Amino acid sequence: MLIVMQSHASEDKIQKVIEFIKQRGFDAHISRGEDHTVIGCVGRKIIDKRDIELLDGVKEVIRITSPYKLVSRVFKPDNTIIEVNGIKFGGTHIGMIAGPCSVETYEQMDETAEKLYNSGVRILRGGAFKPRTSPYAFQGLGEEGLKILRKVADKYNMAVTSEVMEVNQIPMFLKYVDILQVGARNMQNFNLLKSLGEVRKPVMLKRGLSATIEEWLMSAEYIMSGGNREVILCERGIRTFENMTRNTLDISAIPVVQKISHLPVIVDPSHATGLRDKVAPMSKAAVAAGADGLVIEVHNNPDCALCDGAQSLYPEEFAELFKDLKALAVVVKKTF
Ligand code: PEP
Ligand code: MN
Repeated sequence: MLIVMQSHASEDKIQKVIEFIKQRGFDAHISRGEDHTVIGCVGRKIIDKRDIELLDGVKEVIRITSPYKLVSRVFKPDNTIIEVNGIKFGGTHIGMIAGPCSVETYEQMDETAEKLYNSGVRILRGGAFKPRTSPYAFQGLGEEGLKILRKVADKYNMAVTSEVMEVNQIPMFLKYVDILQVGARNMQNFNLLKSLGEVRKPVMLKRGLSATIEEWLMSAEYIMSGGNREVILCERGIRTFENMTRNTLDISAIPVVQKISHLPVIVDPSHATGLRDKVAPMSKAAVAAGADGLVIEVHNNPDCALCDGAQSLYPEEFAELFKDLKALAVVVKKTF
């Protein structure tokens, strides 16, 4: 951190700032210019920069190191590649996850999974605990939903992902799922993130509705600092002033995160747009921008879906899209 003192700050003020940071375990490196004195504050401890900004004579405090460490490429320069059921996310690999928003019945999952399997999908999604905005909306089948998801996945040799909402649900989830999904609304549920740090299964961390990239990476840092190194970041659209789509897909988040972090970044075009006809173009945009994977909502009968039917693809539509995406991947030197 660099502390820039006000022009011609008195020696007394400079010494008080130095004393302040030293008391908190930092070293001070002083550089005296003609007008300004700059104090380099070096150390491993955490300090709130506002505490320094408020000191007498301080003009500005500039942070020069990032607050995240384990998620950063400085810590690990090479891409992290996460493999689930033979499907890889990261590096030159693009992983595909597809399935309905929610598990509704065995038949619905079975029919959807069979069609997805036939189009080459090996990781099935399906929510069993749904974070709905309205308490009157379908809340999911709970553990029964996880059982159906697992049973159907086993029938087709598929892996599964589903959203975990609370710390006390983790042991139950570990019995049924291969990837634990943290939903956008829980991105800053720090107790949940800490507990997922102790898990030894991949976690798909969705970006919060209004989260900055730095906040999203800090949430990943929570999981990694607990010892779990398998975090898949999922961009699912953020809230902006635009209301023609459910959210605004932040495509630039892909290259931005990939430059800072070694973790795979995947895209959810379904929740990002909320509209079926926007899913294919946004999936293609994601692949073109270098995404390490996609998670797409597909339902055997979207018109009767209990949740998110309008953004769910028909299985045939998905099959076509998946073919196009595979062709597109070649252009960016990646493979599904
Ligand atoms: C979901 O994937 O079903 C979901 C609820 O997504 P998000 O948390 O991104 O809204
Ligand atoms: Mn959904």
